[in-house]
Amino acid sequence: MVVTRFAPSPTGYLHIGGLRTALFSYLWARKNSGKFVLRIEDTDKARNSAEATEAILKAFEWLGLEHDGEITYQSKRDDIYAKYIQQLLDEGKAYKCYMSREELDALREQQMANKERTKYNGKYRDFKGKAPEGVEPVIRIKAPLSGEIIVHDGVKGDVVFQAEDILDDFVIARADGSPTYNFVVAIDDALMGINEVIRGDDHLSNTPKQIVVYKALGFEIPTFYHVPMIHNAQGKKLSKRDGATDVMAYKEMGYLPEALLNFLVRLGWSHGDQEIFSIDEMKELFNPKDINKSASIYNTEKLDWLNAHYIKNTPNEKLVELLNDFGVVLMSHDKKEILLDALKERAKTLKELANMINEILQAPTSYDEKAVKKAFKGEPFPILEAFIIKLQDAQTLHLPSDYHHLMQELVDEMEIGFGKIGMPLRVALLGKMGGPNIDVIMAVIGKDETIKRVQNAIATNS
Ligand code: GLU
Repeated sequence: MVVTRFAPSPTGYLHIGGLRTALFSYLWARKNSGKFVLRIEDTDKARNSAEATEAILKAFEWLGLEHDGEITYQSKRDDIYAKYIQQLLDEGKAYKCYMSREELDALREQQMANKERTKYNGKYRDFKGKAPEGVEPVIRIKAPLSGEIIVHDGVKGDVVFQAEDILDDFVIARADGSPTYNFVVAIDDALMGINEVIRGDDHLSNTPKQIVVYKALGFEIPTFYHVPMIHNAQGKKLSKRDGATDVMAYKEMGYLPEALLNFLVRLGWSHGDQEIFSIDEMKELFNPKDINKSASIYNTEKLDWLNAHYIKNTPNEKLVELLNDFGVVLMSHDKKEILLDALKERAKTLKELANMINEILQAPTSYDEKAVKKAFKGEPFPILEAFIIKLQDAQTLHLPSDYHHLMQELVDEMEIGFGKIGMPLRVALLGKMGGPNIDVIMAVIGKDETIKRVQNAIATNS
């Protein structure tokens, strides 16, 4: 059974890069009817916070990424790590190192002066003597000091590391007994049964050390997939400004979860030239073997395009619910279907949709200068007044087509072009150019409000 995991360090919010590897791991588990587990790597007490863990879980909930089983918290597993430290000591695969800070610093300085790689020199590897006084030892693992360490990577192929270039007997437990990062990651992945590790390639350099731990403890080494980073349009690492921000900020900006997930799945993975993937399709088609070898480029227009697609395809009932978060309450509006049908084709985000709706539902408080100049320059007020009379006389006005007929009657009777009424009417209703069809606007706000707005526009601008 395929078991994947997401293992965030809760030092802040969940950002877009982390979410992408979480999504890949989730999809691969689902595709294989396997398990996707969550491990919170909260051993760095100074930098971790419970709020950050909450934020990650909240983001998962918003996106519908459900994990399997209980969440594992590294901070609660000290006993487990201690047991394996003891085991390695007992088996002679790890040892206590009494080198003092000063000694280590001196060693490092000397190596730097000699232009050598800085590394531990193995002083206590085979130490049999009496422990020096006054130094709490750290525990170091015996790492291979020569030969190759090969990471069989599902994305990058075999990555060969020379032990002498990268390894030394690294610390697995600090002087206070606390275990170190690469040690616990390897143990947890092994004990949690994780056999496919999908993570950012910023972790590739940790992998040889983790392999040392797997081997020392006789654990099976998982398959690794190291996913290239996400870059901005300039080819640089994503910054906050480019969108490397809290996943929940995307919710606040008005992106739909399905759009964000679709956007992310295509960052570094492809399936032919298909762009639109429902979550079910992703689960069916995703394969980490198809992850690109090069960095992917974050492209906001693409995200907007996808979001527009998903907004357009969201049922109105659902949109009504989502718009509540953006201060638009349409629940009991009798023309909400007409309104949403007309606008959801045009909005890139829910926020934009909310603004468009507000611009229609709220009478203009001012008139755009340019629009006024253009629309009112021929003094179309008699036409607007004639239209008011038509509106007042009309019996049934419900649908956009009812309003359209009324306008048609007017232009026929007055023998004028449609634009002569259309443009001034638009500016009278909205205070500016743009927006959906005028007949839609009138149908949504209704006869009385239409009359009021036109009268007001005449009074203000004539
Ligand atoms: N906790 C690590 C991080 O948040 C991830 C560890 C891993 O995926 O192996 O970067």
